[in-house]
Amino acid sequence: MAKVVDVELQAVFKRFGSFVAVDGIDLTVERGHFVTLLGPSGCGKTTTLRMIGGLEYPDSGNILVAGQHLSADLGAARPTRMVFQNYALFPHMTVAENVAFGLRMQKLPKADIATRVREIIALLGLTDHIAKYPRQMSGGQQQRVALARALVTRPRVLLLDEPLGALDLKMRKHMQNELKKLQREVGITFVYVTHDQAEAMFLSDSIVVMDQGRIVQQGTPADIYRYPQTAYVADFIGEANILPGSFDTRQGDEGSVTTALGVMRGSIAAGFQPQAQQRVLLSIRPEHVLLGAALGGADFAAIGKVVDLAYLGGVSRVGIAMNGLTLHADCPGLFQGAEGDTVSFGWKAADLRLLAHDDRFSDGKGDA
Ligand code: ADP
Ligand code: MG
Repeated sequence: MAKVVDVELQAVFKRFGSFVAVDGIDLTVERGHFVTLLGPSGCGKTTTLRMIGGLEYPDSGNILVAGQHLSADLGAARPTRMVFQNYALFPHMTVAENVAFGLRMQKLPKADIATRVREIIALLGLTDHIAKYPRQMSGGQQQRVALARALVTRPRVLLLDEPLGALDLKMRKHMQNELKKLQREVGITFVYVTHDQAEAMFLSDSIVVMDQGRIVQQGTPADIYRYPQTAYVADFIGEANILPGSFDTRQGDEGSVTTALGVMRGSIAAGFQPQAQQRVLLSIRPEHVLLGAALGGADFAAIGKVVDLAYLGGVSRVGIAMNGLTLHADCPGLFQGAEGDTVSFGWKAADLRLLAHDDRFSDGKGDA
């Protein structure tokens, strides 16, 4: 079956005064996909989402939704709906009235409105709350009403801006499950915004990582985690030890690097062409730092000192210092050792990513 593109951004720029909030973004979202814009506060996620929703206009570039340029004011016929963190429900309307509102605006026959409202309210498990007012409901329930209100109009694309941000951790986890199930059931394209990398990993078919108004990497959660192309992505998604070094030579997809811990080989990120003596960064996940008896098969090994220890349940996180650098290792179960112990550590070259230098990650403190 041919791929249908629901959202397309071509070289989209947006400035506020002289500040560039969105700095030339190209993005394609396929029909039925759950795509998440991920990045720290201020990187341009909301501005991008609002432009897709037609609430903000780019200074240059094109935005197409369902193949149509988003130039005309489409009003109630616009192909997107937006869900916000603060629910934005009408306080003086019941659940049923809130959900029916968009359909009334579209002047649908009363009987059709009643049927569609009943269906979507059942889908979201709100049937028992249909006559309640927003203030009589929990945050999670209110957000479900906001979702019902957006979905009842059958938008081509649903835009969600940190919709779970106001909920406590337990309710957020619960709603993450619900949202994922709901998206599969309705089959509508979701473009989701969050700064929470774990949430993005859990929910998304595809993650779009943003940094200062730009897209720096896009891929499946597994791709982004296993093959980060920059230190920024390695650091932002999951945990990473980041070491500075100087590039020596290349052998195929691997390169050799001189660091404060010694010379080691790492796997060069796709597209990166380091030159001899160039400053580079190396990234290794804590679960890939092997300790003691687990070191068999490692391509690099050294001896350090245990400087901190934490039991996280399931794994122990061990801080290891050597030559002014501190690294963290996650080892399964309870670590058999104590602070001050000497420990051998190391890794496989295939688990060490060789990345371009970035001033933000070259302080040599290792784990961020
Ligand atoms: P995010 O959602 O990733 O936190 P935003 O898209 O809200 O980021 O904002 C990106 C940048 O643009 C921020 O530095 C923010 O202060 C700025 N910005 C957003 N909206 C406006 C506005 N209406 N006027 C001026 N600056 C804005
Ligand atoms: Mg935002």
